[in-house]
Amino acid sequence: MAISTPRVLALLASVAVFATIAVPAYADGEVNIYSSRHYDTDERLYSDFTAATGIEINLIEGKEDELIERMKAEGANSPADVFITADAGRLWRAEQAGLLSAVDSDVLNARVPESLRHPEGHWFGISKRARVIFYDKDRVSEPPQTYAALADPKYKGLLCARSSSNIYMLSLLGAYIAHNGDEAAKDWAQGLKDNLARDPQGGDTDQLKGLVSGECGIAIANTYYFARGLAGQVDGLTEGIDKIGVVFPDQDGNGTHVNISGAGVTTHAPHRDNAIKLLEYFTSDQAQAYFANGNNEYPVVEGISASSVVEGLGSFTADTLNLNKLGENQARAQEIYNEVGYK
Ligand code: FE
Repeated sequence: MAISTPRVLALLASVAVFATIAVPAYADGEVNIYSSRHYDTDERLYSDFTAATGIEINLIEGKEDELIERMKAEGANSPADVFITADAGRLWRAEQAGLLSAVDSDVLNARVPESLRHPEGHWFGISKRARVIFYDKDRVSEPPQTYAALADPKYKGLLCARSSSNIYMLSLLGAYIAHNGDEAAKDWAQGLKDNLARDPQGGDTDQLKGLVSGECGIAIANTYYFARGLAGQVDGLTEGIDKIGVVFPDQDGNGTHVNISGAGVTTHAPHRDNAIKLLEYFTSDQAQAYFANGNNEYPVVEGISASSVVEGLGSFTADTLNLNKLGENQARAQEIYNEVGYK
């Protein structure tokens, strides 16, 4: 497919370029990524892809929802070939906006477990995280072993979690709705609210810091925030991290709630074939290791190890609910939080 000169120039003017952009020898020898991920390991992965295929990568980075808005505004003229972001709930939003196209790839279908990709191939998981329960071992002798138990009145005044507008909280409740139904989900959200130690606030790291400071007894957070505190110095966390215990919930039930960073090929991709090649490359053993290690996450492809720090958290059974359900239940999840007054 030909790419017009103005488009290339516009791209060069506005792009944070990690792979060197020589003037492409031929128009099809490139692929344009819009990504909300930024890790040094990702840059190495991209340059390895270029070395292996000769396809240059142009990278535009931005905040998740801003990139979605940008693609909407650019419409059919968008240079984006591949969209990368965190959380299936956000990938769902992009898909609902008509921004992502169906991809039927034997490689992707074989490598990415069914629950971690869109049913029609509009997006695919590239790394995986679990949203689990952390607790202060000094204060909580019998930590909750299930998500349902987080709403148990015996934990009143202990719970810290993010606000309801946060996509992780929407996806978690979306899964709860899928497994337990609307009414039970509303009761659960009410129970969470009643157990709060403070108004929902901050990011996942702040919930963990609340355990160290003593403000919180129980916290909900994604595994990689804790792993970061273990792997390096995170002020307010690392120095007190020994007092924090981890529970992978629902091991005797649906399994622990997992989510993804994921990627999809855009609807108007100027370099669709290259985009599919790139996604397939993302599922290679080497790329999976880069992605997982870059953010202390888990690979999506079976049989590949996470970092030693992440593996040290222990193995767990993951929920196999198709993550598209989280998006389908997103609007209802926000309503439920609002109805019970969970801010
Ligand atoms: Fe995160």
